[in-house]
Amino acid sequence: MKILVINAGSSSLKYQLMDPNTGDVFAKGQCERIGLDGKLTHKVPGRDNYVAEIAMPSHSEAIQSVLDILVDAQYGVLATTDEIDAVGHRVLHGGMEFSESCIIDDDVIAAVERCIPLGPLHNPANLMGIRACQAIMPNTPQVAVFDTAFHMTMPAKAYMYALPWEYYEKDNVRRYGFHGTSHRYVTLRACELMGRKDIKLINCHLGNGSSLSAVYDGKCQDTSMGLSPLAGVPMGTRTGDIDACVVQYLMNRYGYNVDEMLNILNKKSGVAGMSGVSSDFRDLENAADEGNERAALALEKFAYEVRKYIGSYAAALGGCDVLVFTAGVGENSGEMRERICNGLEYLGVKLDPEKNKIRGQEAVISAADSKVTVLLIPTNEELMIAKDTAELISK
Ligand code: ADP
Repeated sequence: MKILVINAGSSSLKYQLMDPNTGDVFAKGQCERIGLDGKLTHKVPGRDNYVAEIAMPSHSEAIQSVLDILVDAQYGVLATTDEIDAVGHRVLHGGMEFSESCIIDDDVIAAVERCIPLGPLHNPANLMGIRACQAIMPNTPQVAVFDTAFHMTMPAKAYMYALPWEYYEKDNVRRYGFHGTSHRYVTLRACELMGRKDIKLINCHLGNGSSLSAVYDGKCQDTSMGLSPLAGVPMGTRTGDIDACVVQYLMNRYGYNVDEMLNILNKKSGVAGMSGVSSDFRDLENAADEGNERAALALEKFAYEVRKYIGSYAAALGGCDVLVFTAGVGENSGEMRERICNGLEYLGVKLDPEKNKIRGQEAVISAADSKVTVLLIPTNEELMIAKDTAELISK
């Protein structure tokens, strides 16, 4: 079986053609600068990358260029696009409409449209990707996989904000959470590796965007992001949780409007804003090693806030059996994992310094006598999307 996984952003579109059963990737790549000029980067394992400038006024041309390269005599991997069994789309915000993946029809599109106010930056782009695929491949089934869906099992005490009730009832204002496909993937893998499902699990998805989830019996009980991905721990360029009055104070002082203020909170803050160096944790580690105190403080702050969330989720779950690290930072930075776990000994977390040197590979990285099993699990959101897609179309 061959599933095309699409992650459409406003000016970019990532794709992977993969086998949902084996996880084998036949080809992957991305279109960038959609709406400006257009650039396609296409990778086939074991072959040279193909990079080309191709006019992409809209997502339609981007999708068409992906299909063209997939069947290209020299760079392609398919004889015809009919070999694509289905397309799985990553969709950011499913609001309260979706608690699982589903086959896309007119009702699903209308519901994703209703969620645009909740995901104003991403949902319109996701819809453009869906519509472009529908137009170009009208006979190929399309599936939507939502970033919010895994978190829909949270109890009300976790997802409600302590706001006047009508904002929830009338306006659907609540915690939703994101990176759900990643949290679901590592949860499934952790349960498989532990050989049981009834574990108290804390997942740390630490990348450019970061979020944690508290999971019991395979179901999400709480998560750090909120109505939007701005909440939770500090990130590459996002503040994470912040006193709302800081917003009022800065807007009054500098005359910012809401968009300007949100741009600061989303794009100019986090470890990049604190350090003034970079949003990339490798740059921060290098700068800190060279004596840059603000970079060192940004790293310390990040680790501290992640550790605080782990502590609060252990309290929420009444303990912790397994702690998982995933995503760019979680998978690659043993240094950051160590900073975070340093101080969690009271909880029964004890890393094995040798095992913790590993990068990007599934592994147990806790010591043999650690009460909490610490796992490194590389996330694979594309595989999860491909598996959901395959399962839904074979029903
Ligand atoms: P995104 O949220 O964009 O999907 P990723 O999960 O790919 O992000 O994570 C990207 C981040 O991972 C980069 O900001 C980079 O700082 C971090 N990263 C990647 N490799 C390393 C490494 N070896 N050490 C520290 N950080 C790393």
